[in-house]
Amino acid sequence: MRVLLIEDEIAISSFIAEGLQEEGFAVDVAHNGREGLILALENLAEYDLVLLDWMLPGVSGIEICRAIRKENTTLPVIFLTAKDTVDDVVFGLETGANDYLRKPFAFEELLARMRVLLRGSTGEQNVFNCRDIELNVATHRVLKAGRPVELTQKEFALLELLLRNKGKACRRTRIIEKVWDINFDHDTSVIDVYVNFLRKKLDTPGQASFIQTLRGIGYRINDDET
Ligand code: CA
Repeated sequence: MRVLLIEDEIAISSFIAEGLQEEGFAVDVAHNGREGLILALENLAEYDLVLLDWMLPGVSGIEICRAIRKENTTLPVIFLTAKDTVDDVVFGLETGANDYLRKPFAFEELLARMRVLLRGSTGEQNVFNCRDIELNVATHRVLKAGRPVELTQKEFALLELLLRNKGKACRRTRIIEKVWDINFDHDTSVIDVYVNFLRKKLDTPGQASFIQTLRGIGYRINDDET
């Protein structure tokens, strides 16, 4: 899952970005309205959710939200706002935002609101399976044959993406776009490294790997054990 965060207060943006990265999200951060608008419009198809400050230097959050909605009517947008009169909130939602949070807010509340919107956009599913492997997005846990397996955040994010697309090819470019953020240097061999970590932790000895290599294309998760 990849998130665009547009917030000019450095303390708030780093607090949110670090928290989300710990939860396995890839996060692109913009610190002013203009930069945020450019990132939003250039990479719109790659984002799963946008966190948008209301008062921004350059271009306001309202203008950015309108620009996003012109291109994409379903991408979840959450306003982060210090404004708290009812009129402002109603106006914010009328521009097409899905939700808003008043500063200061607890990180857990932000995460809970995000999960609700992300569930809405991907169906209600929280639990994904392949063979004896189970990944639970809500509890952020992975089980193999009923036993917990410790994954790093990047391993978890990669496994989640592959499981959400079980049976379908995940192209290397898409994996990079969804699991790594914009600061990533685009050497896609990092994907192979992480796939190997997942295979070591989750494959069953004597069985074909649950992650199938599609040469020159990417990877596919497979229920088939042979
Ligand atoms: Ca601000």
